[in-house]
Amino acid sequence: MSADPSAAPPGELIAVRRGHRPSCSSAGSVVGVALLSLGAASLILNSFADLFTAWRSGGGPPGPPPRLRPEADGGGRLALPQGDVLELNPEGVAAARRAGATEVGAAAPAAVTGALRAPEEAHLAVTDRCPAACAGCYLDAGPHRAGQDAAALGVVIDELADLGVLELAFGGGEALLRGDLVALAHRARARGLVPNLTTSGFGLSPARAAELAAVFGQINVSIDGLERTYAEARGWEGAAQGRAAVRALVAAGARVGVNTVMSRPLLETPGALEALGAAIAEDGATEWQWLRFKPAGRGAAAWDQLAPPPALLDGLWPRALAVEAAGRLRLRWDCALVPFLVDHGVDPEALRLLGVRGCTAGQDLWSRHADGRWAGCSFLPGAPAEGALSAAWAAAPELQALRDRPAAEPCASCPVAATCRGGCRVVSAHLTGDAAAPDPECPRVRRWEAARVG
Ligand code: SF4
Ligand code: SF4
Repeated sequence: MSADPSAAPPGELIAVRRGHRPSCSSAGSVVGVALLSLGAASLILNSFADLFTAWRSGGGPPGPPPRLRPEADGGGRLALPQGDVLELNPEGVAAARRAGATEVGAAAPAAVTGALRAPEEAHLAVTDRCPAACAGCYLDAGPHRAGQDAAALGVVIDELADLGVLELAFGGGEALLRGDLVALAHRARARGLVPNLTTSGFGLSPARAAELAAVFGQINVSIDGLERTYAEARGWEGAAQGRAAVRALVAAGARVGVNTVMSRPLLETPGALEALGAAIAEDGATEWQWLRFKPAGRGAAAWDQLAPPPALLDGLWPRALAVEAAGRLRLRWDCALVPFLVDHGVDPEALRLLGVRGCTAGQDLWSRHADGRWAGCSFLPGAPAEGALSAAWAAAPELQALRDRPAAEPCASCPVAATCRGGCRVVSAHLTGDAAAPDPECPRVRRWEAARVG
């Protein structure tokens, strides 16, 4: 590891985004105390620079060569086998090529205005069937939905591989209902993509857990609380089932995380969030993704009941740091929660170095709904793709609108605007009627609005 933590990051490595991309809905970033200090963030970046150097000199970890996707500016993304993605400048790209990285993205457009040549991660809702009917389901999934046909999904996986997408998050609905789920994941693997999975863990047998563990990069189980808080958040009690799935997957050798939606019942119950963290750590999960409640699907109608008051979201960051300090779980923070970092002294440059992402819908993230519509993320309405996916990524009007979001105040002068990008459009659309408006629950936006009207 490089000795001086305050040294400037090495030039070839611009930023690192850590870990797999397991969530089937929001994008997430690893967070922690390193975001408070440029020195600490640089230290992490330097450790990845050392890893990059070691691989180039033949001393890297065993496994297939990293995959390299060059970008239009000459830089590129290098996906390491363990899931971390290095953002390289042109010299870094040249060095990765010389060292034998596998180049991907031949079918991607040469350049896309306001976006990468292709998504870093794509989400696939492989079904909208689900035996449960959770009160706030963003997809409006249920037991009697149609599912989706395997031939169409196989073609989509092949096209995404040709575009050079790095990771593919499978979700639903309940993806485990598909008998061909493992076959689809193997198809993604065979094409160089890393498949990840989100599930509620319904009826997971040890044998199925072993099949999943053998192919998915990471599997996240959705658990929104323990006992009563789970039931209040979802309308039925499934925490025990989810925790059993975590244990089965860990026993099968999978890398396992947990997705938890920050609902009003969970955050209004003192200690409930921390109790859930202790339980899933005990079960063997290693990563915990916190997700903001989204007003999409049935979540729109359930918003008043299930979305926490913004003041509770304001207080999440110290609780995340306490989880990190306990040392048992790595914390992942979803794109829509980034506005709730602005008041906590995070260093904007540290956010950039460690690849923290706010709203990147349509910029490095793309999502396919179960009915075939494509959207900037899983919570946006989207539209069918016209023609090849490369053309749709380059020019779909819905994506262009996301990329062209105007920088209105108070976002225009916000210190973390480059990362946050104005907050969650789904929340903005629901609460203001304008998806491009600054996120009205952001604490800085709330103060701005209070000063304006007061
Ligand atoms: S003011 Fe805008 S850019 Fe800044 S944190 Fe809030 S929503 Fe994000
Ligand atoms: S609209 Fe943006 S911030 Fe909100 S969930 Fe989608 S990608 Fe994340």
